[in-house]
Amino acid sequence: MEPLSKAIEAGKQTRQVECEQHGMFTSVNIFRTVWSRCPTCEDLRHKAEQEAVERGRVLAERERLQQKLGRAAIPKRFIGRGFDNFTVHNEGQAKALEIAQAYAEGFDAHMKTGRGLVLSGKPGTGKSHLAAAILQSVLARHAVLYVTCMDVIRMVRETWRKDSPESERDVLQRLGRMSLLVIDEVGVQYGTEGEQTILFDVLDLRYREVLPTILMTNQDLTGMKQFLGERTWDRIRETCRWVPFEWESYRPQARKEAIEGKQA
Ligand SMILES: [Zn+2]
Repeated sequence: MEPLSKAIEAGKQTRQVECEQHGMFTSVNIFRTVWSRCPTCEDLRHKAEQEAVERGRVLAERERLQQKLGRAAIPKRFIGRGFDNFTVHNEGQAKALEIAQAYAEGFDAHMKTGRGLVLSGKPGTGKSHLAAAILQSVLARHAVLYVTCMDVIRMVRETWRKDSPESERDVLQRLGRMSLLVIDEVGVQYGTEGEQTILFDVLDLRYREVLPTILMTNQDLTGMKQFLGERTWDRIRETCRWVPFEWESYRPQARKEAIEGKQA
């Protein structure tokens, strides 16, 4: 709309009109019976329209993230866990938080070098919280997936059935191509040779594609090496940073489970 003063200068007809909300204003005759409306109302309408567009954009973005979140398969209880709500009681936790946050921030570089992490510690020490925080901070821009070690083994084993719609190769490719793969509960069960081979195939593929992997385990260095076997351990040692979570659980239930030798 042209400015009022210009319209008046141009010799257009004006009249005083009262807006119910904003009081008197000068209305300009635009064309025949069309008169300009209250400028304050017009401004508000314009602003509301812009806000609606912006809301639509935000909703669409949220929808897109929700879908990605769904595809990432992060366990429900860890959705919403971020760096800012990770509780720090000791120096080890502060260090773990710092490493995880720096890892997420530098993820584009890790995509080029294939640098990963091993989060090692008892249940309830916050490994899953930090892994979920990393996943959620990179999933807007990258294909990410959370699986447990047993999921991986089951996924591959299922392809061995005669009627399987997917081949073993399909599954390996799917796991192998994710920008970031998080494998939880590594070393919870006894690692049979067959399981070691499956895990090696996945990790070796990711190693060759130079893609980062985060492993989570209750095992210490020795236990992890034993579980993975020499070949896989070599890959992990070369590409991953070992992050120890060496404190007791702050969750009473997890502490109880840890004592009973169960996985939280
Ligand atoms: Zn008005």
